[in-house]
Amino acid sequence: MVPTFLESELFDIWVRIVNDKYDAIGHFSKNISSNILENLNDRTDDFRLGDGFETTTNTVFSTLLARQASLAEGLAESPLTWNGHIAPLVLRSMIDLLITFRWIVCSPTERSTEYVNYGLGMEKLLVSHYQSLLANGEDDTDDDRELAKRVAEANLAWIESQQFQMFVAVNLGSWTGMSVRKMCEETGSQDLYKFAYTPYSSATHNMWNHVGKWNAKFCRNPMHKQHMVGQIIDAWPVVDFMYRACKYYEQTLIEFDRFYDFESSVIPPTACFEESVGPLAEVWNAPEGAESDDEAGP
Ligand SMILES: [Zn+2]
Repeated sequence: MVPTFLESELFDIWVRIVNDKYDAIGHFSKNISSNILENLNDRTDDFRLGDGFETTTNTVFSTLLARQASLAEGLAESPLTWNGHIAPLVLRSMIDLLITFRWIVCSPTERSTEYVNYGLGMEKLLVSHYQSLLANGEDDTDDDRELAKRVAEANLAWIESQQFQMFVAVNLGSWTGMSVRKMCEETGSQDLYKFAYTPYSSATHNMWNHVGKWNAKFCRNPMHKQHMVGQIIDAWPVVDFMYRACKYYEQTLIEFDRFYDFESSVIPPTACFEESVGPLAEVWNAPEGAESDDEAGP
């Protein structure tokens, strides 16, 4: 009987090659994510940074740094997202955070307070939406009403753990009162705005200059006047996306360290990337079958 592909020797070789490659990606992603966490812990363990008076400023810088770390770590731990469809969403959020961080650094006490108050205001507005839903939504089921009630109560408790909700102002504009472009000008981040924020925003907002590259191919029928057909471009893994995540994280660490005059002994994320990408490239770029020579039986 002829063996099926699953029973064939070819399948064993194929599995070995694929396993080697996936192993290499696993090691790479583990190195990077450990480094991300080490860098964060070095700055947040035991609340070591902050003088105890600037409570809001310390809270905002410490938590924004942790948010940046969780975005970078999330990407590092999800190699399947290292493509043009998903990675830009994370990167755009990281760039947003870096811009916010730099902008707050320019006037820390005032702006960190505005940042927190705006967030509390947004949450208060959401609570009031739920409350009017409870007051007017006669058509809702009991389960819906119970859920809305619980969400409203939990959010209100979160607000009131920080401020009496009657004093929380709801601000409907942008919290900084200015455009991201202006914030970038003010912090000397014009290049970040032009070359990173804007292109990744196209991905986030599904603009044609993203969709036309990542979800389009020309129809092959010459009678159809070159219309395009939707598809999912399969380009993977693009480790450069991970490099960028390391870079934006590192730039945030640099702002943090400058503010607190802190020197870390943990290697910076981009250095960790450089160190780890070599072994990955070796396995990934090896000619098919070559890496398994020593194990190949007679
Ligand atoms: Zn067509």
